[in-house]
Amino acid sequence: MVRRAYPERTCVGCRKRAPASELLRFVAIGNGADRFSLVPDPARRRPGRGAHLHLDPACLTQAERRRAFGRALRLTGVLDTGPLAEAVCTTVAAGTADGGRTEPHPEQQGRTTDMSTR
Ligand SMILES: [Zn+2]
Repeated sequence: MVRRAYPERTCVGCRKRAPASELLRFVAIGNGADRFSLVPDPARRRPGRGAHLHLDPACLTQAERRRAFGRALRLTGVLDTGPLAEAVCTTVAAGTADGGRTEPHPEQQGRTTDMSTR
């Protein structure tokens, strides 16, 4: 067996394997009975069952459509993908999806919900 330098994870959207560093980990936080919020965990520090997703709106959409989140996290109930969707969209919009970590003006980052700029 060859030891890989990077652990691989499977994207819940497109089901492709990729280095963990290219995927966004997220976990479900309970909001009460049968309600969960999917929150991003870029530092991979949160306890509990997590799953992974490309920083790509297309993968997010695929996962939502196939209800892959509930399956990956073994949850039944209402899953709120809002926080996760926001993280994917803002990260893609900021152009940091390729691993670049340069954020010269983090305090100037506004929230953008305008998806029509692609
Ligand atoms: Zn993917």
